[in-house]
Amino acid sequence: MHKALTVCPYCGSGCKINLLVENGNVVGAEAANGVTNQGQLCLKGYYGWDFLNDTRLLTPRLRSPMIRREKGGNLEEVSWDEAIEFASSRLRHIKEKYGPKAIMQTGSSRGTGNETNYVMQKFARAVMGNNNVDCCARVCHGPSVSGLQVTLGNGAMSNSICEIEDTKCLLVFGYNAADSHPIVARRILKAKQKGAKIIVCDPRRIETARLADLWLPLKNGSNMALVNAFANVLINENLYDADYVARNTEGFDEYKSIVAKYTPEYVEEITGLPAQQIREAIRMYAAAPTATILWGMGVTQWGQAVDVVKGLSGLALMTGNLGKPNVGVGPVRGQNNVQGACDMGALPNMFPGYQPVTDPAAREKFARAWGVESLPAEPGFTLTDVPHKILSGEIKANYVMGEDPLQTEPDLSVMRQAFSELELLIVQDIFMTKTASVADVILPSTSWGEHEGVYTAADRGFQHFEKAVEPKFNVKTDWQIISLMATALGYPMFYNNTKEIWDELRGLCPLYVGATYEKLAGFGYVPWPCTEESSPGTPWLYEGNKFDRPGGKGLLFAAEWRPPLDQVDDAFPLVLCTVREVGHYSCRSMTGNCTALATLADEPGYVQVNPKDAEKLGIRDQQLVWVSSRRGKVITRAAVSERINLGAVYMTYQWWIGACNELTIDHLDPISKTPEYKYCAVKLEMIDDQ
Ligand code: SF4
Repeated sequence: MHKALTVCPYCGSGCKINLLVENGNVVGAEAANGVTNQGQLCLKGYYGWDFLNDTRLLTPRLRSPMIRREKGGNLEEVSWDEAIEFASSRLRHIKEKYGPKAIMQTGSSRGTGNETNYVMQKFARAVMGNNNVDCCARVCHGPSVSGLQVTLGNGAMSNSICEIEDTKCLLVFGYNAADSHPIVARRILKAKQKGAKIIVCDPRRIETARLADLWLPLKNGSNMALVNAFANVLINENLYDADYVARNTEGFDEYKSIVAKYTPEYVEEITGLPAQQIREAIRMYAAAPTATILWGMGVTQWGQAVDVVKGLSGLALMTGNLGKPNVGVGPVRGQNNVQGACDMGALPNMFPGYQPVTDPAAREKFARAWGVESLPAEPGFTLTDVPHKILSGEIKANYVMGEDPLQTEPDLSVMRQAFSELELLIVQDIFMTKTASVADVILPSTSWGEHEGVYTAADRGFQHFEKAVEPKFNVKTDWQIISLMATALGYPMFYNNTKEIWDELRGLCPLYVGATYEKLAGFGYVPWPCTEESSPGTPWLYEGNKFDRPGGKGLLFAAEWRPPLDQVDDAFPLVLCTVREVGHYSCRSMTGNCTALATLADEPGYVQVNPKDAEKLGIRDQQLVWVSSRRGKVITRAAVSERINLGAVYMTYQWWIGACNELTIDHLDPISKTPEYKYCAVKLEMIDDQ
């Protein structure tokens, strides 16, 4: 038996794992003493490797390339040469007929690694000639990236995961750490044990609410009003750091005028919170010598998410909680490499290293390095543009890598309609997902465990992960497949290994220059920026309160609260909010194929409901129910719980039968284009099973 040191492929906590390998198979996992996890793992870390052995519990591994020669025909196994020729010739034809913008590509925030995302965005830009490349950050923390880039200069956590336990106050806003990032939840618990005050803003009584000093169960859809009220109290009670604000921020006068009307009394009706509780919470935050704000998708998956992110960063700026250790703003990224996919330029407006495609100097630099005459200046389509751009005829081909949009995007019936109108759908993945099952071309890739590379944890920390086993099937690494596609399309692309790719991108990205493979070996952890070969990286940003914005000051920002779009009424009287659960992950193609994890919960999933709402509807715990919205209807089980607020129900998005995205709405934040997964109107109906 030997051990391979890797990084967990699930959440952004960046836990180091030893995979135990016997006779070429992974047979177990042990916690390793990584920087963020300190010898601890959660359930997914311990038991989330089983899918590598093709258990077929949910869906089979993709074992060989496949093509569908004509619409309506069957997928048939072919050689790699035939699959690449089939896919590339069709892409070439579509590009010639409709132009480069008719082709969409996705990066992957999952197990594939940073190097692959770099190669995919290079393929889009240098080979296909468009910026139509995006990743699932669009549907989760896109607002954190957009908002923090504007107010502070970097769309990422300002401080490290390790610092959480040493802050003196945690404001946890729309973030269920125990289910989303159990190892981050341990840091919150340690902070509590070390005497930190904990404030939780969440409609549900989540685990962190149980240990909180103050729990604010705000009404679903009232985030902006509450954040404005916090700012109002900071100003009116003179709790803010006026000297810090004067020296290090701009926009105070407009900020003050916008939040002036948002007194705690004014927002009582909107938030459902007593004014006194709002005052107590922000007084507690402002009084702490160091304070940290953590947030998750309870902040970002809204039609007004970017505004709320900017508002939260304003609270940190107003109290001087930036630019030093144990403070800051923490959008805790969901999937294990969603930070990395953004870092690598799987974004329609950014080259790798957050260099804008609209910057002529950046375009010239990348064009020279990639050996092309020019690169497109116009930002590309986002992931959430895709269904609309297909239906309008602007996108004709979609090259999807390591994503399952027909399970994870909102309003799935529209997604299915759109995908059925594509002239070419290429899916590069490890499993026969819902999207793969309707593809014209399937390009099977190696999985986490079968290749090496670098991930970025939620706190900007680069870590190397090792290959544990040889792939068993007729698969290739993602970057090899993309290179074959590029070469077939007339752009010779070849790398010997991931280090060659990493060194190429380091040379083009000032933020990552010093993050060498040598430094990342073993337990190496290098948070960007790492601008010098000699630098160890930057655990906390904005030293000297120099913000990475023109002029170097942080921007204070507030906006008027806007209610969610899809309102409840007599026909659809309950709010549906999508959430996470500890045992499963994303579209479930990985965790659903792990024996231990699959036994935790099974199809058709569940809808969490308050006992009083359940009683009113005659629904018992574990009973099968229908959940319907204005867009669709699914069957699931009721999970009756006191933790759930009245008038709202909660579903996780992993289930293939009880797929809550049949119900969700495609209402987008106007800036980040992130869907409002957290709010749509539904009704629950019991199914008479007597
Ligand atoms: Fe760590 Fe997250 Fe993996 Fe759990 S799922 S072991 S918290 S990285």
